[in-house]
Amino acid sequence: MDLDLKDKVYLVTGGASGIGEAISELLVKEGANVVVIGRNEVKGKEVVARLNADRKSAPFAAHYINAELSEDEECRKVVDQSVEVYGRIDGLVNNAGKNDGIGLREGSTAAFMQSLKNNLSHYYAMAHYSLPYLIKSKGNIVNISSKTAITGQGGTSAYAAAKGAQLALTREWAVELIEEGIRVNAIIPAEVWTPLYEGWINTFPNPEEKVNSINERIPLGKRMTTSEEIANAALFLLSNKASHITGQHWVIDGGYVHLDRVIGTLKKH
Ligand code: NAP
Repeated sequence: MDLDLKDKVYLVTGGASGIGEAISELLVKEGANVVVIGRNEVKGKEVVARLNADRKSAPFAAHYINAELSEDEECRKVVDQSVEVYGRIDGLVNNAGKNDGIGLREGSTAAFMQSLKNNLSHYYAMAHYSLPYLIKSKGNIVNISSKTAITGQGGTSAYAAAKGAQLALTREWAVELIEEGIRVNAIIPAEVWTPLYEGWINTFPNPEEKVNSINERIPLGKRMTTSEEIANAALFLLSNKASHITGQHWVIDGGYVHLDRVIGTLKKH
């Protein structure tokens, strides 16, 4: 299937690591241009150099912008600079985030609010500043949320609140932007092996045992979802092949959230 993304321009927040990196990479493979946004300049430039390996001169397929997205001004700067470089925006992937474990017991209101800034406010800001360009291009938005939005996790109030709000905003923006033909969808990953995930697993006393116990509970294949599998879904949603899909929450998780986790432990008939 030709996704017809050639020469289009996509912004990917957190685009130099994990799920975002896989989305950036696939976009470039499909012939699109990507603005990779992150806050680790060394890693970001490394990723972009790899993505541009086949293009020795401008226009380059990928461009890196360093930004701390919890700062509103930084989000405005990202959008302005993206348009300076590529002249248009066809889609926004709101993806940057971190499960920071601000819980109900040990947390504080200040830490909760700061976490919302880190994980939620830039989803709004990036959409807000990109909007005039998305209207021009009839572009679209994909928000990466998390299973914690619908299952809870325990010990992570602020992250769960941010992820839940991202799903609400997906519906809200799908309605608000329907007349402009701008589609807005969300992807809900559950267990995806990324640098963020690895960091979380390493907080357990026996990380390997923890990984095995999680894999065992994932119905399809007893394994985690790969970043590439999330990227495949994201690119489909970004493309015109998804031209009548808007306001949707796609759970890409091998059945982890919705199927009976006893599957596979039952005897086959
Ligand atoms: P990752 O490997 O850590 O990649 C996320 C990237 O976003 C990192 O480079 C991170 O930088 C960056 N970032 C985070 N907050 C930022 C900010 N305020 N400003 C600038 N950059 C920022 O994580 P991932 O696992 O791919 O996660 C991507 C998205 O998927 C997140 O929204 C996460 O909540 C969601 N998700 C992941 C899983 C999973 O199983 N991996 C499950 C459910 C949902 P730093 O490294 O400096 O933090």
